[in-house]
Amino acid sequence: MNWYQLTNEDVLQKTDSSNSGLSTEQAQRKLEKYGLNEIESSGKKSLLSIFVNQFKDFMILILIIVAIISGIIGDTADTIIIGIIILLNAIIGFIQEYKAEESIQSLKKMAALNAQVLRDGKVENIEATQIVPGDIVHLQAGSVVPADIRLIEVHAFRVNESALTGESVPADKHIDKLESADTPLGDQLNMAFKSTLVTNGRAIGVTIGTGMHTEIGKIAGLLEVKKSLTPLQKRMAVFSKQLSYAILILCGLLFLLGVLRDESWQNMLLISISLAVAAIPEALPALITVCLSLGARRMVNKKALVRNLPAVETLGSVNFICTDKTGTLTENKMRVDVVKSMDDTKILDELTAFDLAIALNNDLQLSKKNEITGDPTEIALVQYFQETYSVDLLEKVKNQLERVEEFPFDSTRKLMTTLHSVGDKFLILTKGAPESIDDTLAPTEHSADLLQHSEDWSKEGKRVLAFAYKITDSIPKQEEAESDLKIAGIAALIDPPRASAKRAISECKTAGIKTVMITGDHLATATAIAKDLGIINEGDLARSSEQLKNMSDETFEEEVERIRVYARVSPEQKLKIIKALQAKNYFVAMTGDGVNDAPSLKASNIGVAMGINGTDVSKESSDMILLDDNFSTIVKAVKEGRRIYDNIRKFIKYIMTCNSAEILIMVLAPIFQMPIPLMPVHILWVNLVTDGLPGLALANEGAEKEIMKRSPRKPDESLFADGVGKHIIRVAIIMAAVVLCVQAWALNQNIQHWQTLVFVTLSFAQLGHIMAIKSNSKSIFSKDVFSNVPLILTVFGTILLQIAVIYVPLANELLHTQPLTWRELLFCFATASIVMFAVEIEKIIYRRKTKFTAVKNHDK
Ligand code: ADP
Ligand code: MG
Repeated sequence: MNWYQLTNEDVLQKTDSSNSGLSTEQAQRKLEKYGLNEIESSGKKSLLSIFVNQFKDFMILILIIVAIISGIIGDTADTIIIGIIILLNAIIGFIQEYKAEESIQSLKKMAALNAQVLRDGKVENIEATQIVPGDIVHLQAGSVVPADIRLIEVHAFRVNESALTGESVPADKHIDKLESADTPLGDQLNMAFKSTLVTNGRAIGVTIGTGMHTEIGKIAGLLEVKKSLTPLQKRMAVFSKQLSYAILILCGLLFLLGVLRDESWQNMLLISISLAVAAIPEALPALITVCLSLGARRMVNKKALVRNLPAVETLGSVNFICTDKTGTLTENKMRVDVVKSMDDTKILDELTAFDLAIALNNDLQLSKKNEITGDPTEIALVQYFQETYSVDLLEKVKNQLERVEEFPFDSTRKLMTTLHSVGDKFLILTKGAPESIDDTLAPTEHSADLLQHSEDWSKEGKRVLAFAYKITDSIPKQEEAESDLKIAGIAALIDPPRASAKRAISECKTAGIKTVMITGDHLATATAIAKDLGIINEGDLARSSEQLKNMSDETFEEEVERIRVYARVSPEQKLKIIKALQAKNYFVAMTGDGVNDAPSLKASNIGVAMGINGTDVSKESSDMILLDDNFSTIVKAVKEGRRIYDNIRKFIKYIMTCNSAEILIMVLAPIFQMPIPLMPVHILWVNLVTDGLPGLALANEGAEKEIMKRSPRKPDESLFADGVGKHIIRVAIIMAAVVLCVQAWALNQNIQHWQTLVFVTLSFAQLGHIMAIKSNSKSIFSKDVFSNVPLILTVFGTILLQIAVIYVPLANELLHTQPLTWRELLFCFATASIVMFAVEIEKIIYRRKTKFTAVKNHDK
């Protein structure tokens, strides 16, 4: 049976539904029978695959093999302890990755879409996963169709089905039954399919298929879920490949040097391979994912929901934020301020067309809790009507003037029209931007008054709407309906700017980020509000869509960096603005809420959608969703992004310094005619315990004090920019020197357990190093040192473990260590701290330098 061949009544009957939808109970039962309305994704990783992944590293495999072989021919104890350390390593990696995967999944859930469904006769907003066959669904421009639906009511309803059919021209839908039995999907014009996009109008339909029983569900297996690496991860991957060659060569060198010193070759093989495992930063890309996903979870607490993980990292590079005005910079709590009626003809009782348009020309809905929901502009108008007249009169008018057709608002036309039957005639009511209304008026109707009022009120930062009407004998098409109208009146609404937006904009300024307002409102309205918010200052420009159209490309290119307000902008112009900024190498974040914003959200570097008032389509095209629709949330997210990047960089700095020092120590010792300083287990232990665990805790480090006072980072900035590379080289040399000196001294003193001294000094030196680099600027001798609790805990834990390794007899045996005297322990501690002091000196120099540049920037 084909749904598209049935009449509306048959569809309702076959799905046990009715015009008032399903009851809650019915829906519950059906949900149990049909299951959630979800496409089962193949992208989710299983626990086992995450665990097995931990052993996929090539060097680890080699290490396991060599350890087993050397166990067979020699020391089995070593093989066992190496096995345990590898296992521990894998478990830690597994836990991290699992946590990351879990937070990615929970973010995905939060980003899931809602749908408007008729339950118990009332429109209800439910999670789209809860939809069952038989549910009556309301769809409007901007919706993603949540299930397969047979349409029963449409108004100018158009759907882009390219996801399913590849056809990018939106299909015009209707509700009549089709005759032919094998109509292809693209021609089933009385159906709307899951995951396709409503581009225009609105509709009501009956759900006939959900989840995997939808057209898209049938081909879901073919849809590849692709995992994208962040720019940092890509650079890291390239770099660590090159680095591994260098490390392998050095480890080969170590092997030769050892054998030349008459060490056993098996032992040297194990040592060199352990060193390679420890030094090659194989796990870094995975750890970056962990940091990013934990960061994304923190961002949700700040109301920024990241849909696309790389965005967490790249947020810190944003240097232009292009934002909507209404609702994002303003409160979106509209209120009618002034109205002016321009036609006294009474249409119904004492009411003029102006009154009726205010009451009836809207797309509002009554929620289950009897609250009016919908566009705040329209809510304000209806509330105005209720206050001026009464709630009852509104109901009465609604019932008397039944709506027979409508042409919904869109931001290109900037008009909305509804048609009502009055007796045997039809009343056409249109509202919209004053210039757009002016274009619809009959020639005799044009009045300078209309545009003058609009201009005056706009200058005061008000949003102005004009209203027009006519009475006809039949129901016209859209073009005809929106022409030859009579002017009815004009209204101005106030929408106060958000106080938090003003603060956020000034924070952006110090952070080197420019805020640009892009709005569909009038130029004067936009400029007035932009001035109030501090977006426009001396020398900045404001441009309207009209001016933009008449501007040459050269002029636009030249002005684009200075334009801070764009008014009456069409979605295509939004795209043009982004492209122009990107052509100048700016990294652009752009907000959008409408159907037509999808292209610009995709084109921008960070597309930001609105969680409350945004359309599904805009959410699906975005990298990040603002759960509170608030501009200042973008700025918080940028700050968080910068912090996360900082911490990843600190982490890389720490790991790379430690690894380089380990290599230097191992290779230089035999060159200086000393025995090989560390055994394989020592190296693996240091790699796991001292640099592994505390390194991860760096992800919790708080934001640097000047984080929003420095300019945005270049997106393709090298990993080693900003002194990181120099730091690694410098500190690795110091660390190696300290440890080698301890070895030389201990050998010279004929201390039997010199190796334990070396082992302990290296561990402590690394811990001192991490405490020093936790902040780029603040001294370790400030109270800030305790700010990162997980770090403090892991550092102390590691010190205790290290001490246990020296004094617990079993550990002595397994890890080849000997107890130290307390003097020796203190000695290790003291020499190790040299590294920390060296970094503190580096920070003092850094502080001087940044103060200097800050002063210089100030003078500019
Ligand atoms: P914004 O960028 O502020 O969201 P919009 O595209 O929503 O701008 O609105 C642009 C203009 O269209 C407004 O200035 C107003 O005059 C008009 N307008 C806005 N909402 C409606 C509506 N629901 N019906 C008719 N006209 C509207
Ligand atoms: Mg709007």
